[in-house]
Amino acid sequence: MADLRTGILIVGGGPVGLGLALDLAWRGQPSMLVERDPKTAPVLLAKANGLHERTIETCRRWGILNKVIERGFPQDLPGDSVYCTSLTGHFLGRSVIQSTLERPQPPQTPVKRQRCPQYEFDPILAEEVQRRGLTDIRYGQELIDFEEDETGVTATLKAPEMGDITTVRCNYMVACDGAGSLARRKLGIPFEGRMLDFSVSAMIRIHDLGSIKPIEDGERYILFGPEGAWGSMVWVDGDKIWRFSIVGNQEKIHPSHFDIEPEIRRALGSDDVAFDILRIMPWRRSQCVAASYRKGRVLLAGDSAHTTSPTGGHGMNTGLADAVDLAWMLDAIESGWGTDGLLTAYDIERRPVGVRNSASAARNYGNWVDRSGCTDVLTEGPAGDACRKALGERLQSSLQEEWYTLGVELGYRYENSPIIVPDGSLPTADDPSDYVQTARPGHRAPHAWLADGRSTLDLFGQGFTLLRFRDTEAEAGQLVRAAEAVGMPLQLIDIREDSAAQIYQRALVLVRPDGQVAWRGDTLPRDCAYLIDTLRGAHIPSAVGASRAMTLEPCGA
Ligand SMILES: Cc1cc2nc3c(=O)[nH]c(=O)nc-3n(C[C@H](O)[C@H](O)[C@H](O)COP(=O)(O)OP(=O)(O)OC[C@H]3O[C@@H](n4cnc5c(N)ncnc54)[C@H](O)[C@@H]3O)c2cc1C
Repeated sequence: MADLRTGILIVGGGPVGLGLALDLAWRGQPSMLVERDPKTAPVLLAKANGLHERTIETCRRWGILNKVIERGFPQDLPGDSVYCTSLTGHFLGRSVIQSTLERPQPPQTPVKRQRCPQYEFDPILAEEVQRRGLTDIRYGQELIDFEEDETGVTATLKAPEMGDITTVRCNYMVACDGAGSLARRKLGIPFEGRMLDFSVSAMIRIHDLGSIKPIEDGERYILFGPEGAWGSMVWVDGDKIWRFSIVGNQEKIHPSHFDIEPEIRRALGSDDVAFDILRIMPWRRSQCVAASYRKGRVLLAGDSAHTTSPTGGHGMNTGLADAVDLAWMLDAIESGWGTDGLLTAYDIERRPVGVRNSASAARNYGNWVDRSGCTDVLTEGPAGDACRKALGERLQSSLQEEWYTLGVELGYRYENSPIIVPDGSLPTADDPSDYVQTARPGHRAPHAWLADGRSTLDLFGQGFTLLRFRDTEAEAGQLVRAAEAVGMPLQLIDIREDSAAQIYQRALVLVRPDGQVAWRGDTLPRDCAYLIDTLRGAHIPSAVGASRAMTLEPCGA
């Protein structure tokens, strides 16, 4: 007999584990979360800053957007990327990125992207999880083993300090335990893709940067020498905290044998600026995706399922979207109206997005480490000037995909998902920067403002939503009754606004609890019960796996 029992066990209290716990709690679904650290973000994490539009839409739904704004990077500071040889050295070029306040509101979403360092964001998630009171959070508990049988998973936990062993019995276990995932390794699921290189990041406090008068104002400085890009400095809090990272190291870096101080001085271009090194974190840059996101009753989400170069800021954002896809499915199963087939659909839906997003990040990184045209970057005189100008222009143009990512963030779609019903319409272009809204099944349900000031996105989340557009006689009762018959929550909402009807393009559009379109039509299908069963995964044999057409090379780790 296990010591503890829960329906859903989440392993790992990073942003993805916390996001999953929060989305479950938002739906009224309890879970247990175990984290080996003694608390959330116990150190100054040298990690994510950029929260992109889909993540911010989710934060808005969770009711934490104001906190993210309050504790995030000041909204009035510019986000420019400056390309240079050091903060006081030669200027190569810049990509102008407006402050959050100045940036125009994209018409496709009710929100703007934000910047909020992970050492603030993770605690915001943890506070909200705790406030909702449905998650049994257990810090200082490390998963060391687990066994699955026909009816559930038994996980073994160890308290690193005391060495006490606890067992937990659950229906499903979700491994949000990061890139080194014990769960993925124990399941024997390979990481496919490629290693890029090694890095080390340092969080530093710079006391008075103004004293050296940086060549240009920016949020991010990408540093070049004759060897190409060698480092970056990112302003983390809009005050004194910066993150310095080494770029392009082919060898693993051991912080104990590596003196990062001279590198930071090289980045500053001065020996006269006082700074404190607050934390040093070595990490590996890779483009890897797990061969499957599911094995039996164990699911992978976040960095345990995919790793991306931080170039583009897709890692955590992709992981949080995994969590949102998975949360409604687990909630449906635990509530009794969803079937196990949903979890097979999770793998089929999210794995291609992991492949797509980590590829975009790697393309961006390829532009950083393209050494062409760097030889004379430090040379004084006309040859050096010409080199710097050409390099600056190349970076400005080639890094557009990194700074403008609305297409990556909102344009993912679930092709070939067995719980999405295609309507024969063609997909929109999958462009990293440009995003065209569409209510084609499999895509994110579009945003349109309603007369009462809400967004269409505010209608979604708690169960399925059937949108019925103005001037249609469409009868919806049969579908509503078919959902009722299996206990699937489904609300019918009439929309009067022409602008919304134009984007949604059909009289009836059925949106899933995660805000993706599941089905649309001008009339109901002949067999509504069959449609409802499709959407709750009842037609999927459990053994179906993700599309093997997506198989990549082994990740070499
Ligand atoms: C320099 C840098 C900049 C980045 N910038 C961005 C950005 O701007 N935007 C973005 O989206 N992403 C960014 N990322 C990536 C982002 O930080 C990660 O994608 C994100 O942290 C992954 O979240 P996660 O919860 O999946 O995993 P993690 O954050 O790794 O969390 C895993 C958690 O699991 C716990 N754990 C591990 N094993 C066990 C176990 N056996 N038992 C119990 N607990 C366990 C760990 O202690 C940890 O708390 C950046 C990364 C780096 C390195």
